[in-house]
Amino acid sequence: MTGVRPASSPRTGFGESSARALPVALVSGQGSTVFGADGRRYLDLFAGAGRCLLGHGDPSFTEAIATQTGRLVASRHNLPSRDEYDAALVELLPSGLDCLSWFSTGSEAVDTAVRLAKAATGRSDVVVFDGAFHGRTSGVVDLTDPHWNPTSQAHPGVIRCAYPTETSTPAEVDQARQQVRTALTSNPAPAAVLIEPAQATGGNRFVARQFLAWLSAVCRQTGVVLILDEVFTGFGRTGQLLLGQAADVQPGIVVLGKGMANGVPIGAVAATSAIAAAPPLSLPGGMSSTFGGNPLSAAAAAATLAALRRDDLIPWAATIGAEWLELLAQTVGNHPAVAAISGRGLMIGIQLRHACSAAEAILLDAGLVVGVSGRTLRINPPLRIDRAEIGTATDRLGSALDRILT
Ligand code: PMP
Repeated sequence: MTGVRPASSPRTGFGESSARALPVALVSGQGSTVFGADGRRYLDLFAGAGRCLLGHGDPSFTEAIATQTGRLVASRHNLPSRDEYDAALVELLPSGLDCLSWFSTGSEAVDTAVRLAKAATGRSDVVVFDGAFHGRTSGVVDLTDPHWNPTSQAHPGVIRCAYPTETSTPAEVDQARQQVRTALTSNPAPAAVLIEPAQATGGNRFVARQFLAWLSAVCRQTGVVLILDEVFTGFGRTGQLLLGQAADVQPGIVVLGKGMANGVPIGAVAATSAIAAAPPLSLPGGMSSTFGGNPLSAAAAAATLAALRRDDLIPWAATIGAEWLELLAQTVGNHPAVAAISGRGLMIGIQLRHACSAAEAILLDAGLVVGVSGRTLRINPPLRIDRAEIGTATDRLGSALDRILT
């Protein structure tokens, strides 16, 4: 049957997402709905791991890509549309981050951010956090928590500290501070501290707000580059352009990806001019790649930012996300399968009491596409999701949780 993988089919895509093993292929989509090869419609609460911010089949996005495809798909020269986009984006980023460089994936961008920090400081160690996910290429796999990638090794240049969340006790936050302080005042000091303002793969965990401000101050005092990995959280997912954007948080580098181009492959690094000037990376060709900043990605990114702004999707994500959190707390908050619910904007996680290997399949059967990381159900729909859809999704979640429990 079309879209249903026979048991004997070749194992293409080995090692890829667990969703590849589900029996249904998703073949098209409209808004927050996706259509399966089985003829069913599903509410897409995962949006391709959070990346399809505008929803499926967005007309202005589709037209921008189609037009660019017919005009120019490959160039290594100046691209006026990208220059315009860069200027607009820099206006929105934390002040001082006025240098942008483009890549094809989040991993590649994190890799480059770390290389930049090393070049700018002349040092090599990197502080990362428990539960972190920064990608899976050779350059970044050791920065990702081994839990999310069994091949990650304890690496001599990687210092791992506790990740204090908004539900950590004051003593736990203090302990994390102590670990970071020890790392930053060691000799030689590290080049960078790399942190996600909220861990997505790591279980929808939001860093303790005061810890981030403290981290920013201590990095400044010690001359260590603070790198915010906003690959998942950036571009409105949490109801703000960047989750880590605040007056008391001053990163040297921010890493972007995923939703930046609504699903078209992309990654980017925004850095201060002092960091971006570090040779040899700053020299022509020091960081370039074939697809970084290609015309299609540029058109996709520009169309995404334009739609986010034109349709006020970022404030909408904040509003609908807060309503949904409240609704979830009322309807499934006390469900015996549920340990906790966390969220900001449309980055919502339902933590189960027990891991359930069939959760993704049960949710799919209930008409929902949901991501699962460990014990966390990850709800990251398109930012255009509406009230009727969150009502339907909540009803379906309730019945799926009953089945997850049994
Ligand atoms: N950083 C974070 C926070 C991510 O969530 C991801 C992807 N899950 C990456 C980096 C790696 O991005 P990519 O898969 O595009 O290489």
